[in-house]
Amino acid sequence: MDIKTLSIAVALVGTSIALAIALFSSFRRERGLFIYAGGFMSAAVGFSLLIGHGMLPFGISYVAANMLIVFYHFCIVWGFRSFFAIGAEWPARFWAYLGSWFAALLALSYLRDSFPLRTAGASALIIVAGVELVHAMRLAGGAIPPIVSKASRWTVVAFVACHAARVVIALAGAGGRTPLIENDALNAFTFSFTLAFLVLWAGIVLIVDVSHLVGQLQAKNAELEGMASSDELTGLHNRHALDARLEAELERAARYGAPLSVVMFDVDHFKRVNDTLGHAAGDEVLRRMARIARDQVRRPDDLFRWGGEEFLLLAPHTDLRGATALAEKLRAAIEAERFSDAGTVTASFGVAEWRAGEYRDEWFRRVDQAMYRAKNAGRNRVVAFGPDESLPSASVRLCWKAEWESGNRLVDDQHRGLVDHANNLLDLSLSGADAPRLLEAVDELVSRAAAHFADEEALLESLGYPEAEAHAGMHRTLEGEAAALRAAVASGDRDFNALFDFVVRKLVLEHLAREDALFFGYTRGRAS
Ligand code: GH3
Ligand code: MG
Ligand code: MG
Repeated sequence: MDIKTLSIAVALVGTSIALAIALFSSFRRERGLFIYAGGFMSAAVGFSLLIGHGMLPFGISYVAANMLIVFYHFCIVWGFRSFFAIGAEWPARFWAYLGSWFAALLALSYLRDSFPLRTAGASALIIVAGVELVHAMRLAGGAIPPIVSKASRWTVVAFVACHAARVVIALAGAGGRTPLIENDALNAFTFSFTLAFLVLWAGIVLIVDVSHLVGQLQAKNAELEGMASSDELTGLHNRHALDARLEAELERAARYGAPLSVVMFDVDHFKRVNDTLGHAAGDEVLRRMARIARDQVRRPDDLFRWGGEEFLLLAPHTDLRGATALAEKLRAAIEAERFSDAGTVTASFGVAEWRAGEYRDEWFRRVDQAMYRAKNAGRNRVVAFGPDESLPSASVRLCWKAEWESGNRLVDDQHRGLVDHANNLLDLSLSGADAPRLLEAVDELVSRAAAHFADEEALLESLGYPEAEAHAGMHRTLEGEAAALRAAVASGDRDFNALFDFVVRKLVLEHLAREDALFFGYTRGRAS
């Protein structure tokens, strides 16, 4: 084989690979790739210098070329260490290897000229680089993708075998000075496998980079997924996560007939906590509440933040009795807790077991209804939606409409709360609740509306809404009419239906849809 042609091929391939990796690294801007690029560059220069052997001074065409080629092999280890963050720096022993090889090379060139020893020494050092690579892979352990470790390991084995063979051939061959660029078997063998490994190492560099990139993407995806499915304040899962979870649980319950229950709970008089102690204290209560629930349930997977101060516990393989007991345990734990600022805080619980074939919305309306009853029955208690009870079949419901969004978070939360309460009131009346309970529920709705009116008026004033005063006047009229009707019902002058109709229709629905809608132009598009 013609060694000149082969060595030119090695230099050309090495240079092309060095340029390609350099281009690639300038695009990827990854430290490990810069190191590889530097390594391939020094290989390209080293192999190019070898071609000039006999024409260039020996120190350049041989000693410098040799150093550059050995440096290239160590760059493969260095780049690998950088990619997998093994050791913060290029360890001192690598420079020691290179330094001692430089000294040996000089000694074997100028003090005692021995081509076989130089050949054996260079290959021995390259074998050391291979061992260092395996060592680095050990240190990285599980952090290395299997494809990288397999590809690197086998390449190192083949590579070390070739260099070991080269050492044997060199030492067995004739001593004395042999021109490097000569058509002998050793040179043919060396240049051939060098050519093959240049390409192979370049391929491995790409595999290392791509697998590293894929690993980063997977970690980022997992992080984003966690962010999208968890609630920032409490760390519990959010509603979005519940949707996915529910789908799977409902399918399982339907297929295997396993019981499936849900517990919904809402902090009692939470508005007071916010109003008297501030929002930050309110947030702390919610965080603590989530922690207590997590400790009690021991399955954080099943806990969700359903809304502002409402939580939801999904209980697979649990029937109504079991879920009620669980809710009771949780209720007692919350009641027993001493919150740093707020003291004792309680919550009201609703429980409902899924019924085969039931729509999810229906099931959630039942649990919501049960929780509402717990609130109405005096709070800090658990109410289960009984197995024989049913929601009123011909129920009338107010459906939240997009055009009711004011764009202000507080106002929208409160409006939704009022609509929810009006719906619960409708359900309660249709399910044949007795008069005192209904009156209590109406009073509750009216007092919620009054608290909301105050917040809304303060907001409109601060936004400079020109009709703020007139709007506040409407609130006073509604409150006055509600109070008058309430008194008339209590004295028996008017029947309950008139009060009921006024509260649901006039106080909530019409006021929201007609009068409130007028200021939405002021609240929309402003930070809330
Ligand atoms: P009830 O016993 O009937 O549940 O009374 P409540 O005061 O708890 O109920 P309401 O729905 O009137 O008030 C809930 C309050 O929770 C109003 C809202 O501003 C507040 N809230 C909602 N989300 C958060 C939050 O993330 N942090 C804080 N601090 N407050 C919140
Ligand atoms: Mg509450
Ligand atoms: Mg609430």
